[in-house]
Amino acid sequence: MAEHPPVPRAFHIMTKPRGPICNLNCAYCYYLPKEKMYPGSDFRMSDEVLESFTKQYIESQQVPEVTFGWQGGEPLLMGIEFFERAIDYQEKYRKPGVRIINTLQTNGTLIDEAWAKFFHAHNFLVGLSLDGPQAMHDAYRVDKAGKPTWERVMRGKRLMDEYEVEHNILCTVHAANADHPVETYRFFRDEAKVEFIQFIPIVRRDNETGYQEGLAVRDQSVTAEQYGKFLIGVFDEWVRHDVGHLFVQIFDVALAAWSGQRPGLCVFEPTCGLGLAMEHNGDLYACDHYVEPNYLLGNIMDTPMLDLVTSEQQQAFGRAKMETLPQQCIDCEFRFICNGGCPKNRILVTSEGKPNLNYLCSGYKAFFSHIDRPMRMMVNELRHHRAPANVMRAINEKDLALERAFATARRNDPCPCGSGRKFKNCHGRHKT
Ligand code: SF4
Ligand code: SF4
Repeated sequence: MAEHPPVPRAFHIMTKPRGPICNLNCAYCYYLPKEKMYPGSDFRMSDEVLESFTKQYIESQQVPEVTFGWQGGEPLLMGIEFFERAIDYQEKYRKPGVRIINTLQTNGTLIDEAWAKFFHAHNFLVGLSLDGPQAMHDAYRVDKAGKPTWERVMRGKRLMDEYEVEHNILCTVHAANADHPVETYRFFRDEAKVEFIQFIPIVRRDNETGYQEGLAVRDQSVTAEQYGKFLIGVFDEWVRHDVGHLFVQIFDVALAAWSGQRPGLCVFEPTCGLGLAMEHNGDLYACDHYVEPNYLLGNIMDTPMLDLVTSEQQQAFGRAKMETLPQQCIDCEFRFICNGGCPKNRILVTSEGKPNLNYLCSGYKAFFSHIDRPMRMMVNELRHHRAPANVMRAINEKDLALERAFATARRNDPCPCGSGRKFKNCHGRHKT
């Protein structure tokens, strides 16, 4: 049985008006090599494609809010005039009572006053790519000359603060920042003063195409163990100080899942297929991570967008995520949130030698088991119509009780942390 109804009420297309063209040369980027897919192209979305896309996209959605997602490459390289035309077309084709939302992902280096004013005037929600404090960000996020970019990104961020542009942070987790979760998180909270952060793991296949092929990953990638420890490190800081006023996407997703709801983030959904990507010329692909010839559905200028979205090819792509799940995932206690993770990262074999285990599996498991108790506490608060933020008081009280127990424990007592080891061989080691 097909997982999705033939015509979904809503779907999302990540739109790339400038294709893979970017003013930066980030070392882990999977999208820059896609330039080779369109030899001779000017990589600029034409007016004709923009208008047809806008019309079809709005017509296809059966929901009161339609979200346009602009990405790249670097979408600001299209210039403000392009986005002004986009907004004109959105208004032209907007159905009565439907709200249009624009989101845009940028490296932030080209944001000036004019852009900041434009974003503010048109209520854009901007995602800013920033990988933490200067040294960690500049390790990989460099321009075409190999020069660091952190200062330019921070200037763009300050302008967005000044002009009250709604924005959030997309921080990738990679070899250069993965061992510094608390420093990275505190930078965002205390210096950049952000309210919403996504932490996205870098798992970059080692190939020249940027396609999902080959089983080796590049050195910039985070390891599963590092990713698990990173999320745990951030969570431990967040759950003691920031619940309810700083939002970390994967924690929100976890709370939804622990509450019995759908995770709501494609990587943790049981199936794929409703988050597509469109290149500058109208070519529609199964997903942003599968912009490669085998996953091309067709061009919206030749075939109606809805036919492509509901095609058997795309439905098969969506179902494959569930159908290829290894037994280890089917039996896993965390399947309710994880669902095997994104297929692009399923490059390991299970303990039974079966394919399709997620590269990040051991990190996910460590993280999910670490947050189980606090998540249950928060769910309990929600069920009783109380604020999940109450978890902070409970955990801080527990910390305090533990500190007192450490202070009075004798060398040969069982360690108060519950490890089962003697105090002298556990938390009391430095004392003795
Ligand atoms: S392939 Fe990965 S990124 Fe794409 S829709 Fe599926 S889970 Fe999401
Ligand atoms: S934690 Fe690992 S075994 Fe469990 S569902 Fe996720 S990828 Fe599969």
